[in-house]
Amino acid sequence: MKQSQLFTRTKKDSPADEVSLNAELLIRAGFINKEMAGVYSYLPLGLRVLNNIENIIREEMNKIGGIEMRTSVFQSKEVWEKSDRWSDDVVDNWFKTKLKNGGEVGLSFTNEEAHANILKSYVSSYKDLPIYTYDFKSIFRNEIRSKSGILRGREFYWKALYSFSRSEEEHNEFYEKAKIAYKNIFQRAGIGHLTYITFASGGTFSKFSHEFQTITGAGEDIIYIDENKGIAINKEVYTDEVLESLGINKEDLVENKSIEVGNIFSLGTKFSAPFDLKYKDENGEEKLVVMGSYGVGLGRLMGTVVEVLSDDKGIIWPESIAPFKVHLLVLGNDENIKNSADELYNKLNEKGIEVLFDDRSDVSAGEKFADSDLIGIPYRVVVSKRSLADGGFEIKKRTEANGKIISLDDLISFLENKN
Ligand code: ATP
Ligand code: MG
Repeated sequence: MKQSQLFTRTKKDSPADEVSLNAELLIRAGFINKEMAGVYSYLPLGLRVLNNIENIIREEMNKIGGIEMRTSVFQSKEVWEKSDRWSDDVVDNWFKTKLKNGGEVGLSFTNEEAHANILKSYVSSYKDLPIYTYDFKSIFRNEIRSKSGILRGREFYWKALYSFSRSEEEHNEFYEKAKIAYKNIFQRAGIGHLTYITFASGGTFSKFSHEFQTITGAGEDIIYIDENKGIAINKEVYTDEVLESLGINKEDLVENKSIEVGNIFSLGTKFSAPFDLKYKDENGEEKLVVMGSYGVGLGRLMGTVVEVLSDDKGIIWPESIAPFKVHLLVLGNDENIKNSADELYNKLNEKGIEVLFDDRSDVSAGEKFADSDLIGIPYRVVVSKRSLADGGFEIKKRTEANGKIISLDDLISFLENKN
């Protein structure tokens, strides 16, 4: 993509009412646009990052047997009354609206009911199970506080998977696989080293749920980390009794602020019971399906990466989710400089190496460098009079202070091997 054609521009300032680092950097660099408190649009650069995150999650979900579908955002009163979650007295963050011809609809704030209600029409025998359905979807929550940028939106994009198993045992087996899939997701997204599987409150059906908590001062949670065991405990369940039951010593724990980037939950029969979601086992006996839920917010993950991996110049994207791999900057308007840059741009496109080409002719070198640091693409390649005189192109990692000169062929093969 040529930057001259990218309609977004970097900005010196973010909106005055924006207090979070993730939103400030993402707005200034042109990844997102603030529509109102807690509501953001994803601009071309931001959508590319979101799509990369989506692909990682999709791969990990498919690997453990997930089947993708897309449920409607519109939710019917009748369905949610079955599980007693329609009333505003029970759920305080619904967005609801009225239909012209009478009746109400809600906008999805979560998705257990939608999946359980659909599966009710298809599951009857033990042969139908287990099933692991998931979708990527916009979720709407009338959050009271929304000052954390895309970490806590009133509209946000998530993946939720629901597992439908025949027994506790079958459920637990999948639950352990899901833990590994979640670890992979955060590892691949570049925050694995800061993310801990965390014991949290479990609701009615299990003692604990498991959160994936990433250490950051921007977080709203407090966790206690056992570095050696690689696990943590959420403050909400932190008691002497719990520590003992988990075999953890108080002295080994370090307190940190963190953000919940993902969450997995054993649901038991909490939702299968109200939907009468049953199957006949081998002996013809009817049994309730055992469910689990597995959620991750894509915007929250993206915002967390920005919170933990940026520096004073801007964002530092991990290669796996960066909007482009290479930021090509052409400095100077001489024909031969421009031709060299065009040649490299075409070669990179031919090879399928994603490149943002700063081909703007009315922007100073200093501004191009500052923009490049702010946008945070992993490799910066500069073509200038000096680089050509030195024998080629200057390549620099976003995290390095100085670049080095490299020939066209070496540059291509270096970046190809990184693919
Ligand atoms: P929190 O405790 O932070 O309010 P939650 O426990 O309500 O989140 P879940 O309902 O379990 O969250 O949703 C699953 C995932 O969706 C969370 O782990 C998080 O990644 C993401 N998420 C939840 N709420 C938001 C939000 N308002 N904005 C962005 N992402 C969110
Ligand atoms: Mg939570």
